[in-house]
Amino acid sequence: MIEICHVSKRYPQSGTNALDDVSLTIESGAFFGLLGPNGAGKTTLISILSTLLLPSAGEIRIDGETLGRRRGDIKRKLALITQHNSLRSDMTLDQIMELQGRLYGIPQERILRRREELLAFCALTGHRNKTVRRLSGGMKRKLMLCRALLTDPEILILDEPTIGLDPASRRQMWDLLRTLNRQGLTILLTTHYIEEAESLCQRVALIDQGRVARLDTPENLIRLLGPVAVDVFAGDHTQSAFFPDKEAALAYAGGRSEPILLRRTTLEDVFLTQVGRGLEAV
Ligand code: ADP
Repeated sequence: MIEICHVSKRYPQSGTNALDDVSLTIESGAFFGLLGPNGAGKTTLISILSTLLLPSAGEIRIDGETLGRRRGDIKRKLALITQHNSLRSDMTLDQIMELQGRLYGIPQERILRRREELLAFCALTGHRNKTVRRLSGGMKRKLMLCRALLTDPEILILDEPTIGLDPASRRQMWDLLRTLNRQGLTILLTTHYIEEAESLCQRVALIDQGRVARLDTPENLIRLLGPVAVDVFAGDHTQSAFFPDKEAALAYAGGRSEPILLRRTTLEDVFLTQVGRGLEAV
């Protein structure tokens, strides 16, 4: 279990309060999403979780124990995949996996066995002797996943795991993450893609300006707002209204003269009504 307890982070150079008293509990085995626009504080939070950054206040507890830079035993339970490609471009997939195993002191026999399993799991076996520079963006991201899993973490943290990927690679990554979660891995990811949060995450925290604006399952957040949306196109702006069912939405829409669209409510609507701006806002 991950407990984020009253965590704040201020960047002294810019005076930005990137996180402001954030508290969250993420149960073991959960698939949890931090959803928010650029600049909301998501990367800062997961950098603190991976001990790359220290909080200005508050603490993180993993299975009841306080996380710290010197707590190698706790840090080993976590693996982080950042947005940035941190792979050496002149190394092959096999070499990258072997190097990672050695860095973590994993016995050679285990490195070789896990490497086979993980490359096969990510459908990368046929590319194992290619250098990283010859891989597509999707393959690089899958290799980062293999590398992170080599140390058998209990918790996988991913910062925008599908940013910049084409739709097919994005769906492939979703399937891999779903399978890993079904096998018991706790997954925490950040995203600003609605579809990603809705289709993967059992619970999401809507993050805005360093605070948790809402925390619930995507279904509950949508149900509470009203699962059926009506967009009314009035001149140069669109006004949306939300209803508990289609009948109520149709009753509202029926009396309007402007063009209307009946649709399913999304997490973007929840975000917009809760926070007053959309997820693509910078
Ligand atoms: P997100 O991941 O949600 O896009 P970030 O955690 O990257 O958000 O950023 C949160 C806020 O902190 C933003 O206002 C950003 O400009 C600021 N920030 C992030 N990193 C730094 C840094 N190293 N120094 C100063 N300000 C930063």
